[in-house]
Amino acid sequence: MNDFPHTVAGIGVGPANLSLAALMAPLDDAQTVFFEQKPAFSWHPGLLFETAALQTSFLKDLVTAADPTSPYSFVSFLVAKKRFYRFLSANFGSVLRSEFAEYMGWVAERIDALRFGASVRDVTYGDGMFLLRHDKGAVRARHLAVGSGSRPRMPEWVRADEKAACIHSSRFLLSDTDLAGKRVAVVGGGQSGAEIFEHLITKGDGMPSHIAWISRRPNFLPLDESAFTNEWFTPGYVAAFQEVSEQRKQRLLAHQKLASDGISDSTLTGIYRRLYDLHYLQGRPDVAALMPGREVVDMRHEAGGARLTLRNDFSGAVESVPADVVILATGYEWYLPDCLDPLTDRIDVDGDGRLRLDARYRVSWSGPGENRIYAQNAARHSHGVADAQLSLLAWRSAVIVNDIMGRAVYDVGGEIDPIQWTPGLSETAVPAAV
Ligand SMILES: Cc1cc2nc3c(=O)[nH]c(=O)nc-3n(C[C@H](O)[C@H](O)[C@H](O)COP(=O)(O)OP(=O)(O)OC[C@H]3O[C@@H](n4cnc5c(N)ncnc54)[C@H](O)[C@@H]3O)c2cc1C
Repeated sequence: MNDFPHTVAGIGVGPANLSLAALMAPLDDAQTVFFEQKPAFSWHPGLLFETAALQTSFLKDLVTAADPTSPYSFVSFLVAKKRFYRFLSANFGSVLRSEFAEYMGWVAERIDALRFGASVRDVTYGDGMFLLRHDKGAVRARHLAVGSGSRPRMPEWVRADEKAACIHSSRFLLSDTDLAGKRVAVVGGGQSGAEIFEHLITKGDGMPSHIAWISRRPNFLPLDESAFTNEWFTPGYVAAFQEVSEQRKQRLLAHQKLASDGISDSTLTGIYRRLYDLHYLQGRPDVAALMPGREVVDMRHEAGGARLTLRNDFSGAVESVPADVVILATGYEWYLPDCLDPLTDRIDVDGDGRLRLDARYRVSWSGPGENRIYAQNAARHSHGVADAQLSLLAWRSAVIVNDIMGRAVYDVGGEIDPIQWTPGLSETAVPAAV
């Protein structure tokens, strides 16, 4: 075992813990180590389509919101890669996800504290330290940073014996299933479902014989990126959100779905134009069926494939769709990684098994306050819609760094909020009429 006690040890190196590692890196008085089970950094490779674009500004990178002078910013990457002016001239509406993934991989190569190909096996606690056993040894650390992400969500109607006919979207580009000439159903009306549908209808010779795109939502609805909606993705809103009751939080999150899970306008337009092309210019009006407002309620195996039963919320009818392959663009769910099993009876979770986190992203647990567990992207239910996104990555990491170090390493102070979320404005604060 490496007996050297670290200030903080991280589980997982996705964007969240990579951001934390990047903001910890300049600190001489901290020793950090972050473990990642994958052999090298990658970002959702199963959905890294050539044209897929970020749904967030590139300024919301790993570090800039906390430290615009950091050598780990997206702009530093552009300069180092000698593509700064070309990037500006290209005038991208949104940065391609492949370029943002390359940027994060570039940062990962520059931070010494990252250990790839090292899955954390288990974490125990004793003598004022966490002990992390991983594939290549063990380390001790005063604090823990859990950034292990979320896992693919499998709908209840996928029974074990039907799994072979299904591909979760997270594995779409990694799967070697040949879809050419097959009947394919894509289930899920968010960005991943849209990108997969667009990819399938654009394949030319390799196209499936038929593609059904099924969504529970009443239509294929756009991402809301308007100015006041973006206020939900600010530190000020996170602070206000934490103050409201549990019941209100869940109601607010339901209203905010399209701010994080809607489909990019460029993807919707691309799909619409391709369908126009297929219908009128290619003479293939029957190649795809767009089926919003449908809830899949059952999936059965039948000769040569599967059959999905759908409840149509628009007409009230029950429909069925045959498919050789079902693509599940059904999202992800947060989970506590298995390696934390030895600590689970000390970790405080709510009735739905979700962590209880405070404003500094400390997990509530029964251990001493000098040893803290921080969790990233685990607090959508308590801290708001921005939590599982890139938007507040750098700010949240800075909050955690400050708490770990016990001093204001980064300025995480708020800006002027244009919206008054809480009743803070008393009559005396309203300027008198002149
Ligand atoms: C296709 C796609 C596109 C997205 N695009 C955007 C976008 O444009 N804008 C936006 O704001 N958000 C976007 N998101 C949402 C969110 O930003 C990403 O999901 C992001 O990757 C979450 O980062 P993370 O670090 O929390 O988790 P992850 O990226 O899932 O990383 C967690 C890491 O932990 C590792 N790990 C897990 N357990 C262990 C263990 N025991 N030991 C070692 N390592 C472990 C995993 O291998 C993984 O690499 C997107 C999500 C998806 C799926």
